[in-house]
Amino acid sequence: MENQGPHVHRRWNPLRRSWVLVSPHRAERPWQGEVGQKAVPQAVSHDPNCYLCPGNTRAGGVVNPAYNGVFSFVNDFAALLPDPAEATGASSSPLLLAEPARGLCKVLCFHPDHSLTLARMTREEIRPVVDAWTREYIELGDLDWIQYVQIFENRGAMMGASNPHPHGQIWSTGFVPDEPAAETESQREHLARTGCCLLCDYVAAERAAGQRIVFENDHFMALVPWWAVWPFEVLLISRRHARALPELYNDERDGLADALKRLTTRYDNLFETSFPYTMGFHQAPTTGVPSDRRVPSGRVAGVETTGDEHPEWHFHAHFYPPLLRSATVRKFMVGFEMLGMPQRDITPETAARRLRDCSEQHFWPRGRERT
Ligand SMILES: [Zn+2]
Ligand SMILES: [Zn+2]
Ligand SMILES: [Zn+2]
Repeated sequence: MENQGPHVHRRWNPLRRSWVLVSPHRAERPWQGEVGQKAVPQAVSHDPNCYLCPGNTRAGGVVNPAYNGVFSFVNDFAALLPDPAEATGASSSPLLLAEPARGLCKVLCFHPDHSLTLARMTREEIRPVVDAWTREYIELGDLDWIQYVQIFENRGAMMGASNPHPHGQIWSTGFVPDEPAAETESQREHLARTGCCLLCDYVAAERAAGQRIVFENDHFMALVPWWAVWPFEVLLISRRHARALPELYNDERDGLADALKRLTTRYDNLFETSFPYTMGFHQAPTTGVPSDRRVPSGRVAGVETTGDEHPEWHFHAHFYPPLLRSATVRKFMVGFEMLGMPQRDITPETAARRLRDCSEQHFWPRGRERT
């Protein structure tokens, strides 16, 4: 079962408890190797029309400070609001269920330079972003009504990103959203049944198999998961069992910055474009990690995970990129995938090999656009 030949099969995702259909014979259609329009990086370091650039005025009239590192603010057009919602009126049927939803949505600018992306930032520039994500997880999670902190980045117009300025979002919610809730259940069930962490076991299985690992550093492994749905989907996973960002040691935060740099560079080099994706971290719900066990930014973590709440949770990031064959040819989730189940053509093993073959030197080096 390990070495899947060219026959159609379906694979189990134990984290999400769902299936994906793999049709490798369809990938035997001639590979055009086409490279679409190269996406040249933004030419200007400061765009007067960008609402995220330092010193610019955002919609609503707030002026950004002249920040020179990371910068976060509450989203001016937040999907969730912190004020207690009005109780919804009694429904005439249990099938017409609703409940109030509270949350706090923030925007985090990674860098003041409008022309950059994570792929084209240095490790030293990405590390403060890791620290800011950690700080936000702690501060938002410390609010007693917040149960989950979802950190994510939508990269590229293809993923609906409205602004090329390097930035991400942090939506914290008074409930645990569906995806992390499902992963909580899977990890909890695996721990109860086997006494082991699901993702620690999975990392060991992938290391033994060897075929789907893209690269590793001392602290993180990047792999195309066995159950990948998107063509070049990657799971970035901490090698040590840690439940959440605040539990990462200082050198592990450096390791995360290094892994993000290397993965996004390989992505850009794959089709010589600014590779679009949605990425985000999955970590323990904040209700289960008391704040006195969390480690403030800059200190070394020394948190024992056993005995605390959510021992089942293993920190990781998902990268979901839409591109399939070139800088312009994307995968669509339509038809059978909307009505039946997800399906993929190229195998996760092939995708991992192609990402392994990519250079870690960016095809469009820093400074080139301004010379
Ligand atoms: Zn900007
Ligand atoms: Zn683990
Ligand atoms: Zn996850």
